Amino acid sequence: MEYKAFLLKYAEIGIKGRNRYLFEDALVEQIRYALRRCEGEFSVRKEQGRIYADVISERYDYDEVVENLKRVFGLSHICPMIQLEDEGFERLSGEIVKYMDAVYEDKHLTFKVNARRARKNYPKTSMEINCDLGEALLNAFPEMRVDVHEPEVMLNVEVREHIYVYSVVIPGPGGMPVGTAGKAMLLLSGGIDSPVAGYMIAKRGVRIDAVYFHAPPYTSERAKQKVIDLAKAVSKYAGEIHLHVINFTDIQMYIYDKCPHDELTIIMRRYMMRIAEYLAKENGCLGLITGESIGQVASQTTASLLVTNEVCTLPVYRPLIAFDKMDIVEIAEKIDTYETSVLPYEDCCTIFVAKHPVTKPNLNIIRKHETHLAERIDELVRTALETREILAVSADR
Ligand code: ATP
Ligand code: MG
Repeated sequence: MEYKAFLLKYAEIGIKGRNRYLFEDALVEQIRYALRRCEGEFSVRKEQGRIYADVISERYDYDEVVENLKRVFGLSHICPMIQLEDEGFERLSGEIVKYMDAVYEDKHLTFKVNARRARKNYPKTSMEINCDLGEALLNAFPEMRVDVHEPEVMLNVEVREHIYVYSVVIPGPGGMPVGTAGKAMLLLSGGIDSPVAGYMIAKRGVRIDAVYFHAPPYTSERAKQKVIDLAKAVSKYAGEIHLHVINFTDIQMYIYDKCPHDELTIIMRRYMMRIAEYLAKENGCLGLITGESIGQVASQTTASLLVTNEVCTLPVYRPLIAFDKMDIVEIAEKIDTYETSVLPYEDCCTIFVAKHPVTKPNLNIIRKHETHLAERIDELVRTALETREILAVSADR
């Protein structure tokens, strides 16, 4: 079947009143972003509370379009449509018989025609269209049955300027369109968890910026490329991501020199959060996002989280906090980040990691040991911020 347009439906929750156009505009922008990655040319428009994507080019790849639209948060349903011109009812019913023949190989099905007449000068009422098209289909395919209560196939016929026909309904991803809930700064490592955390928060409509702490030469260019690839994978859902790459080596080495080794990870995490918060505020982000999950490693016990969190004034979103690893992996596989995440490149946290890191850090002791850094830490943080690299990562073709 040659579908020439898509009706893109969104859930109505929370978008009443004045905010509706913001919601719709953000959704349209994300739909355009998704379609830019697809072969072919498309035009996206809002019309009477609906969003349509028309295929303009001669050729396009249907599967590719559906796959990309399924990544647009805020969409509840994706309905591929055929578009007919109003050339009389005979012609319409003939086209609809052809449509049903092409889409449903097995004709043993129940159906209902659901006509909507947005253009009131059409010569038949909705009820008449329902009855007359139903009859034409029953004549053409005697195996079919009408079921007005629970039809297997709902054949929607919308009479507007053109006549649109659709019956296939593909579930969208749900959520809210990215761009409707402000922006947050994702601490993105090369691991499994943080890309999933970014995906989950983006699903609520939050635009994402990201920061990666790089420790050359202890972490390689390949490790950095892996993080860029992960950002790219997340940006298929979240839109363009500005990835800040911070050179963390000198800070890490300095902490290693001055503080007890079993506290290295926790102190390092506090500096990551401080720097991330600085970048967040500088870039208009309203929160931080991490992939932390209670008890996963020493730095994620409740006691460690308390100590890490203490340096932040912005809210820290930890969508995986109560997830088991297995469940995180399942999402990572679904969003196509898993394979990249498990590539065996070194991580800056693992380089200097102690054999027995503290699992119950004491805030006062950690604070006291951080005073050992007083001499140079501000300067090192400043340099790290000044020498950062900012990459605009997007999933465009
Ligand atoms: P992940 O799988 O996301 O790497 P993890 O299980 O390895 O997480 P940690 O290394 O303790 O856990 O990191 C906890 C969180 O801190 C990560 O989810 C991420 O948000 C952030 N983080 C850790 N290392 C880095 C880094 N090098 N750059 C940016 N953020 C980081
Ligand atoms: Mg990690």
